[in-house]
Amino acid sequence: MTDLYQRHRAVMPDWLALYYEDPIELTHGEGRHVWDAHGNKYLDFFGGILTTMTAHALPEVTKAVSDQAARIIHSSTLYLDRPMVELAERIAQLSGIPDARVFFTTSGTEANDAALLLATAHRRSNQILAMRNSYHGRSFSAVSITGNRGWSPTSLSPLQTLYVHGGVRGRGPYAQLSDAEFIDACVADLEDMLGQTRGVAALIAEPIQGVGGFTSPPDGLYAAFREVLQRHGILWIADEVQTGWGRTGEHFWGWQAHGRNGPPDILTFAKGIGNGMSIGGVVARAEVMNCLDANSISTFGGSPVTMAAGLANLTYLLEHDLQGNARRVGGLLLERLRAIGASTEHVREVRGRGLMIGVELVRPGTDEADPQAATAVLEAAREGGLLIGKGGGHNTSVLRIAPPLSLTVAEAEEGAAVLEHALRGL
Ligand code: PLP
Repeated sequence: MTDLYQRHRAVMPDWLALYYEDPIELTHGEGRHVWDAHGNKYLDFFGGILTTMTAHALPEVTKAVSDQAARIIHSSTLYLDRPMVELAERIAQLSGIPDARVFFTTSGTEANDAALLLATAHRRSNQILAMRNSYHGRSFSAVSITGNRGWSPTSLSPLQTLYVHGGVRGRGPYAQLSDAEFIDACVADLEDMLGQTRGVAALIAEPIQGVGGFTSPPDGLYAAFREVLQRHGILWIADEVQTGWGRTGEHFWGWQAHGRNGPPDILTFAKGIGNGMSIGGVVARAEVMNCLDANSISTFGGSPVTMAAGLANLTYLLEHDLQGNARRVGGLLLERLRAIGASTEHVREVRGRGLMIGVELVRPGTDEADPQAATAVLEAAREGGLLIGKGGGHNTSVLRIAPPLSLTVAEAEEGAAVLEHALRGL
């Protein structure tokens, strides 16, 4: 138990989760590697919860931050802020949303809060549809719509939320259906729910559930939902906090796997755009964004230093086609992990897209989630010099693998070998 851990326990909230029995203090990083205070080096397969998008200490981002900090660190939205306008222009264009407006926040939680504010104001309703097993952040409104009680520390709510099937197949009757049957069943469930309600403001959904265990619904689910929502005038909020910026390899945004009926009405983003600098935000078409009837400011959203980091990071990401790299290297890693998974009874499923891969663990010979095994693999991987994440709803039995998108084939192979060793040790 380090001295810093004891000081942490004495002053931080009990509910602030830490990984590892002997928690790690990271001191620096480079590329896909990080080092701890004891000088141990780790291959980072979790990228600061999908936030270190390009690489640790990427010189282009570091320079943009220090150059901007040397000029002016903060100006607030009361003044014209060139890096903010430039980043907004690029995100508006990339979003696919017509006549898009962008509002910057400092986290994914706040981005979802702002999206909920917009949707409820636009539709004059506080009814929200959210997905079962979803996670949208930790503010009062974000926890109140989060579809998993384990991450929702209060039953009080400023919003009235109804939970929809579809984000995860689970182990019930839905598990047996084909993709098309699954979509039909979820649409029927949604229609049924809407038949019993009036004036719902929006559906919020992660295209791939992140904290929920990297579960992808079949492609086209949200396009099918969209048809129903449009008939009822209900907005679709895509929470792209984990799935944006090319993370999933095939697409720049997660919603594009469901794009048949166009982009979402509101898109929220955060994590990877700043490569670790705190940037979040909302994109919506002007008519939705401008429905708020009040003057407002943001003290820290759009702050020049974070925006300069975002611009440099986005430029690097696009110029080096890291989305393509995520597709190629992620595809190889997925195959390799599937082969490892097939050779052990502890693995129920290896799934994912690009560099967003989940390995779901079960007790051998059963279909029961095995959270202890997930913790044991996390610890063993650490011993082997590899950092990974875990998640997956109530039982946290999914290993989450989401390295920076610049991961090389050799590093993918190295990480897979450590994971294989850790799984064999169960
Ligand atoms: N939405 C999703 C899908 C997330 O995964 C997260 C965080 O993990 C959030 C929102 C909240 O973002 P933040 O932690 O930046 O507030």
